[in-house]
Amino acid sequence: MCQPDLEPILMALNAEQYPDVHLNLNVRGLEQSATLAISERCAQLRKEGRDVYRLGLGQPPFPVAEPVIEELRANAYQREYLPVKGLPALREAVARYHRRQEGIEYAREDVLIGPGSKELMFLIQLVYYGDLVIPTPSWVSYAPQATIIGRHIRWVPTKFEDGWRITPEGLGELCHKDPTRPRILILNYPNNPSGTTYGNAELQELAKVARRYKIILLSDEIYGETQFNGKHQSIARYYPEGTIISAGLSKWCGAGGWRLGTFTFPNNLYWLLDAVSVVASETFTSTSAPIQHAAVRAYEGGIEIERYLWNSRRILKALGTSLAARLQRIGVDVPVPEGGFYLFASFNNFRKKLEQRGITTDTELCNRLLEETGVAVLPGSQFGRPAEELTARIAFVDFDGARALVSAEAVPLEKELSEDFVSGHCNRVVVAVEHLCAWLENGEKAPPDHTDFRSK
Ligand code: PMP
Repeated sequence: MCQPDLEPILMALNAEQYPDVHLNLNVRGLEQSATLAISERCAQLRKEGRDVYRLGLGQPPFPVAEPVIEELRANAYQREYLPVKGLPALREAVARYHRRQEGIEYAREDVLIGPGSKELMFLIQLVYYGDLVIPTPSWVSYAPQATIIGRHIRWVPTKFEDGWRITPEGLGELCHKDPTRPRILILNYPNNPSGTTYGNAELQELAKVARRYKIILLSDEIYGETQFNGKHQSIARYYPEGTIISAGLSKWCGAGGWRLGTFTFPNNLYWLLDAVSVVASETFTSTSAPIQHAAVRAYEGGIEIERYLWNSRRILKALGTSLAARLQRIGVDVPVPEGGFYLFASFNNFRKKLEQRGITTDTELCNRLLEETGVAVLPGSQFGRPAEELTARIAFVDFDGARALVSAEAVPLEKELSEDFVSGHCNRVVVAVEHLCAWLENGEKAPPDHTDFRSK
């Protein structure tokens, strides 16, 4: 009987003791993005004087290309708010870029500019009422964004044997149970965390399934320009009417902190573009003016930018291939990367040894690896893999990208970069992977004679 009268008092008491009862239920209990948490832990260990190998946070190692920096300098005076959908010249430059790349007749009106593609991804999930469909593993922020907004998340399983790619069968299986359900599928290639990408035949098959079930396909091509063979192609070629291309300056241009992302829509999805820009107008207003002016230069391309890209890709390819080989040699399951700067490794073959050392989950593995060797990587469970599977993402970025680019300039353009180049210029990453291998095999860091020659 007295329950209803007590309720407001109990609520007030609770609110005083636990102020977070008033947090939006979708946000309560959510933790800071895993990638940021690892970089804070690394910073703390460094403060304590430890040598930390930063293979956790996925920040490109290369500086922003010089012509783009010059353009930013020249536009520092631009102080006025720009249109919410973006600077017209930039929208035009992005449309032209995708026209050139994909042979699709994109126009300025198809492009939306935002302060990072991450923000635009959040807004599109907010305005579209549908399930979020993502592969496991997937980049760390897609799922939390859906959780914050209150969308259902449907994970599509993948396997190491398939290069952690989703298959048309896997996608079809998920959709055919409820064929008319509205869905957004985010397909990211080259992929974070796996480093693999999709070939044209695979994209064509996935496009057929997407068309059959009228899926909105958000094609996250933020690493497109880092594909090692320089031949990245969008699934928009095969499913133009349902694909939104997501891209930006953060990876290929080394400008993550500049915060500039782009979405390119087909014209039958203008209703979505308009809805996102309405919410944008009530939230971020418009993207930084000087950055947008500088981005025009980045999207125009030209010989200097082409060389920068060519050399970035050569370095990442040589390093990624060499690291994958090292890991495979001792029995780690890891696909050879095809773009970007990540490896996604399964330590399943070391399960027995690790269990003897009290390690049964990927988070325990990553914590112990960091404490015992100073090598920071991210557990696969942050990307949606089961914790007991013992997977981790290795971001091979802890080296001086500016120096490596200058040295790559001296190697004839048609040549691949050698193992010596890798050891000489990406030394810290190589040493970190040596430590990881030694630690997996016998629980200790690599002895100095395994690593010393590379520090010279
Ligand atoms: N997608 C993927 C796969 C990413 O790795 C990132 C950044 N780490 C983003 C999107 C977001 O990039 P931004 O917001 O900087 O454009």
